[in-house]
Amino acid sequence: MNFIEEIVEKDLQEGKNDGRIQTRFPPEPNGYLHIGHVKAICMDFGIAEKYGGVCNLRFDDTNPAKEDTEYVDSITGDIAWLGFKWGHIYYASDYFQKLYDLALQFIREGKAYVDEQTAEQIAEQKGTPTEPGRPSPYRDRPIEENLRLFEAMQAGEIEEGKMVLRAKIDMANPNMHFRDPIMYRIITSYPHHRTGRKWNVYPMYDFAHGQSDYFEGVTHSICTLEFVVHRPLYDYFIDQFVPQGEYRPHQYEFNRLNITYTVMSKRKMLQLVKEGLVAGWDDPRMPTVCGLRRRGYTAEAIRAFIDKIGYTKVEGMIDVGLLEHTIREQLKEKAPRVCAILDPVRLVIENYPDGQKETITAENIDGKAELGTRPMPFSKELWIERHDFQEEGSKDFYRLSPNGREVRLKSAYIIQATRCDKDADGRITTVYANYDPLSKSGTEGGNRKTKATINWVDCNTALDAELRLYDRLFSVEDPSADPRDFRELLNPDSLHVVTAKVESALANVKKQDHFQFLKQGYFVVDDDSTPEHLIFNRTTSLKG
Ligand code: ATP
Ligand code: MG
Repeated sequence: MNFIEEIVEKDLQEGKNDGRIQTRFPPEPNGYLHIGHVKAICMDFGIAEKYGGVCNLRFDDTNPAKEDTEYVDSITGDIAWLGFKWGHIYYASDYFQKLYDLALQFIREGKAYVDEQTAEQIAEQKGTPTEPGRPSPYRDRPIEENLRLFEAMQAGEIEEGKMVLRAKIDMANPNMHFRDPIMYRIITSYPHHRTGRKWNVYPMYDFAHGQSDYFEGVTHSICTLEFVVHRPLYDYFIDQFVPQGEYRPHQYEFNRLNITYTVMSKRKMLQLVKEGLVAGWDDPRMPTVCGLRRRGYTAEAIRAFIDKIGYTKVEGMIDVGLLEHTIREQLKEKAPRVCAILDPVRLVIENYPDGQKETITAENIDGKAELGTRPMPFSKELWIERHDFQEEGSKDFYRLSPNGREVRLKSAYIIQATRCDKDADGRITTVYANYDPLSKSGTEGGNRKTKATINWVDCNTALDAELRLYDRLFSVEDPSADPRDFRELLNPDSLHVVTAKVESALANVKKQDHFQFLKQGYFVVDDDSTPEHLIFNRTTSLKG
C-alpha cells in the first residue's frame, strides 16, 4: 500500500466525506500526455477504482494561448487506451462564471485589487524567501475602483498585459505564493477552444484549481510535489468562501516521474515537435503515451512499470532500463519469433537440387508448441547475415567459415561452408555451402548438435521491410540538469533505418503486431506500414 492509500483508508475509517472517494486527473490541454502523466493517472484512477470511488477528468483550460481541442482529443484517447474509465469530463472553463463571481466577491470584501504594474515591476517587488516584498502602489485602491476596473478588464476595454487582479494577502509572508498572487490576467489575442471570445480575463492556476475541486466535490486532490508550496494558498482560497467544518477538498502530493535519457516536460516536447527534431508527438523516441505506443509499448507494460516504481515523497530519477526491462519481460512471453536479415549476403547450397522447394515448419516460440508454428519456405538460395560468415574464421568463430565446421540453419538443416565469391573491392557477394539432407530439425538426424545456429530467409520468397532501429533520444542521462540547451544533447544515433529481408510469413501483419526478430530485438508493426511497404519499429533490444 502506498502512503496515499494509507491516507484514504484512514479517511474511510473515520467516515470523512460520508465515505465518498472522488479524485480527478487535471491535465492542461496544451500538449500530449507523457509517461509522467501516466504515473498521476494510475494514482488518480487507481485510488477511485480500489476504493469504489469515482475519478473525473478535468481539463485545466485556463490559458487559451496554449490550448487546443487537438490536445483534448489526444488526452482522452490516451487515457482510454491505457484502460481507465472516467466518470465525467469537466473543464475549468465550465466554472469561468462562478470563478468570476467569486473574484468580484473577493474585491467587495477588500481581498483583491487591480494592479496596473508590468509583470517585471510585480516580480521585482516580490522580495526573496528571506526578504519581505514591497506593496504595489495600487494595493489600497478603493473597492469601487477595483470593481469598475475588473469589469472593464472583462469587457475587453483594457489591453492585454496592462492590468491584473491580485489577491490582497501578505507581502511579507515567508511563503512567496502568499505575496499577493495574481488571480486573473487579460488574454484577448486568442479565442478560447470552448468559450470563444466570451471571456477577456482568465483565472490563474492557483485561483482555479482548488475551487474547481470544491465545485466538483473532489475529496482527494492528488498532484506532484512541486505543488506542496501551493497547498497553503489552495486552502486559503477555499477558506475565504467555505465555512469551517464543511466539506472541502484536500491536496496530497507524491514524487514526479523522471526517467533517464529523456525529458519529461510538455514544453520541451512541443519544441522538439515544432522544430522538427522528432517526427511528431508520436515519434517512437518520444516519452509520450502515443510515442511509446508506436514504439511497441503496451498499456499493460506501461502500467506494470508504474506499479514497480511506486509512490514516495522523494524526487528521484528512474533508469530507463527498468522501462525497457518491463516491456521485454512481457514480449518474451508472447511475441512470435521470426527471421529478419539486416545485412544480407546470398548463401547458395550447392548440393541442394536446383529448383527444389520445401517448407520448413518453425515454432513461433521455441519450446512453446501451444503458440503455434509457421511455414518457412526453403530452397537452394537463402539470405544470411553477412557477419555470420568469415572467410578466415578464427578459432573461436563458430559460425560459417570454410573450415569444415558444422552450423545449423535455424529450424532447418546443418550446413558446412565451402567457399565464397567476392567483387572487385574484395566484398563478399556469395557464400557457398553443402547441406546434410539427413539433418533436418524435427527428424531423427535433427538432434545433432552444432556450436552455432544462424538465421536465414529464403531468397525466392523473402520480402523487403523497412526496419527503424530506435535508440534513446538523448545522449546524456539527465538532459534537464545539463547546462547546455537540451536540443544540443539529442542522441545523433537515435534512429537508423535499414532495409531487411524478412520471412514471407510477415506479408499479412497488422498494425501493432509484435515480433521478436531473432537475435535482433523486439519489433512492432508501425502505423504507416502497408503490405506494399512493410515498416517495423524496434521496441527494444533483446538484452539491457
Ligand atoms: P509538464 O511539466 O510536462 O508540462 P504539467 O504538470 O504542466 O506537465 P499538467 O497537464 O498540468 O502537466 O499535468 C496534469 C497532472 O499530471 C498534474 O496533476 C501533474 O502533477 C501530473 N504530472 C505531470 N508531470 C508528471 C510527472 N512527471 N510525474 C508525475 N505526475 C506528473
Ligand atoms: Mg501544469
